[in-house]
Amino acid sequence: MSESYAFIGLGHLGGNLAASLVRNGFAVTVFDRDPAAVERLVALGATSANSPAEASAQAGNAVTCLPSPKVSEAVLADPGGLLAGLPKGGTWIEMSTNGRDEIVRLAALASAKGVETLECPVTGGVHLAAAGKITALVGGDAALYEHHRAAIEAMCARSFLMGPVGSAAVIKVITNMLAFIHLVAAGEALMLAKQGGLDLAQSYHAIVASSGNSFVHETESQLVLNGSYDIGFTMDLALKDLGFALGMGRDFGVPLKLASRVNAIFEQGKQAYGGGAWSTQIVKLLEDAVGTDLRAAGFPAKLAMSKTN
Ligand code: NAD
Repeated sequence: MSESYAFIGLGHLGGNLAASLVRNGFAVTVFDRDPAAVERLVALGATSANSPAEASAQAGNAVTCLPSPKVSEAVLADPGGLLAGLPKGGTWIEMSTNGRDEIVRLAALASAKGVETLECPVTGGVHLAAAGKITALVGGDAALYEHHRAAIEAMCARSFLMGPVGSAAVIKVITNMLAFIHLVAAGEALMLAKQGGLDLAQSYHAIVASSGNSFVHETESQLVLNGSYDIGFTMDLALKDLGFALGMGRDFGVPLKLASRVNAIFEQGKQAYGGGAWSTQIVKLLEDAVGTDLRAAGFPAKLAMSKTN
């Protein structure tokens, strides 16, 4: 018989991950502080609970996908949290993006209550999560990973066991640091094309077929050209991840000149458009500075499943 899971945090990403678990036949008990998010999952076949404790007591294992380490800690360890509901020997699978120190510390809190932790941040974006095709980066015990592999693979097309708890946080922050650098670079590239008098749609396709291509250009540049910028990931989340990257740079003694510059650009983006604006809107800073936009016909407002991942 397959394991049952509580799922806490049903936002842009978590809602899609939980839906994949339900679609693949797992018994899922959900909780979110937003009742509309809970209703969407119940309509798909999940059961709802009144607290993380109640959800995890019912299921025996719990998955979280929450906006910050502070919220993850509250959902885990506050009265009414997961540790008040999970049985000894139960597993907490943390799919939020955390810093290394944070997840190591939170896993120790869980361990003190007899609960094992798998960290399982994901990468690829909301559109891949919606199709069950996102990539999982896993940190934790190899046997525990095998035990929960069916559930992880119900949500994610590919998974990489990176090492002990903490190691997935490091690679996750690295992959997002690269993505934000690529995003700012893609915006500068498109603006050079526009101001150089080129057709933007044709430039997009030429870059896709070039040595300057990136996953971010293939996906997010389409949302810039459409003007929706709707990637389902906010400036605040980008700044959280860049903060983790800069912290790792300090801890590991690696000068991160590009990431520091891109962090400053995102600070500027947050000031201009707010922390809840889509991260792709960072390119609008350049549009506003130059006084022209980067629109072209034939690009979608939202990404469909990409062939690249
Ligand atoms: P989100 O803000 O859309 O969703 C967070 C959800 O958590 C919301 O539904 C909110 O109501 C719920 N929540 C907040 N506090 C809560 C609490 N105390 N108790 C219960 N529920 C609570 O965020 P998201 O975009 O889904 O991102 C979630 C995590 O996944 C973040 O750590 C983010 O960095 C990471 N991530 C997101 C993406 C993406 O493309 N959106 C990709 C990779 C990783």
